[in-house]
Amino acid sequence: MKLYLFKAGTVRATGAPVPAYLVRHDDGDVLIDTGYPRTRGTGPDEPVIVEPGEDVPTRLERLGVDPGELTDVVLSHFDPDHAGNLDAFPRARFWVQSAQLAAARSGSVPRLERFRALWDLPDDRFRQVTGDHELLPGIELVESGGHVPGHQSVLLRPPGAAPILLAIDAIPTAADLDAEQRRIYPLDHDEPGVRDSTRKLVDLATRENARIVHGHDAAQWAGLPLAPDPYPL
Ligand SMILES: [Zn+2]
Repeated sequence: MKLYLFKAGTVRATGAPVPAYLVRHDDGDVLIDTGYPRTRGTGPDEPVIVEPGEDVPTRLERLGVDPGELTDVVLSHFDPDHAGNLDAFPRARFWVQSAQLAAARSGSVPRLERFRALWDLPDDRFRQVTGDHELLPGIELVESGGHVPGHQSVLLRPPGAAPILLAIDAIPTAADLDAEQRRIYPLDHDEPGVRDSTRKLVDLATRENARIVHGHDAAQWAGLPLAPDPYPL
């Protein structure tokens, strides 16, 4: 197993990275999140800046992975900095929590409704899962709703190495590890859910002795090896 971390853009207001992740597994490549829409991130008024070459399809191509051939793409959730560019993956099935798809389709989360054109694909493009689910040996989807209903994180168990927990937006920075005290962000949908998922992920990481990679932590990402270098396992 090899893991690559993509810095796929920058949140204009905070300087935080927009994350995506590629797992090169013996049974195939798995992309986790697809970044901000590549056609929009160059606009001066966009909340996310995507520099030329930073977008996820280009990052993949530079690693020799053809986005058009990828079959398995995990979406942590449908916010536009995580689920842009789905059109670049015509053969992919998108792994999502059924709670996220249902909430998005219901129109009950206004910010997801605004970006419906990005994610509203036919049923046969999705692989819906409910709760924690092993996608491939060593790649486990971990339900971590709260930021949105049915947000999911990913636990990687590389053979012979310490696990890695991609917390994504469930614990976006290392300052958010304390379930009781952590801040609740303006886009967090459900405060009790955020606190429950923070507790669940921290307990999981502790039990598994896993390293946690946060979704939007500029300080952490400044010290991480990023693609084209592999993350050391
Ligand atoms: Zn995010």
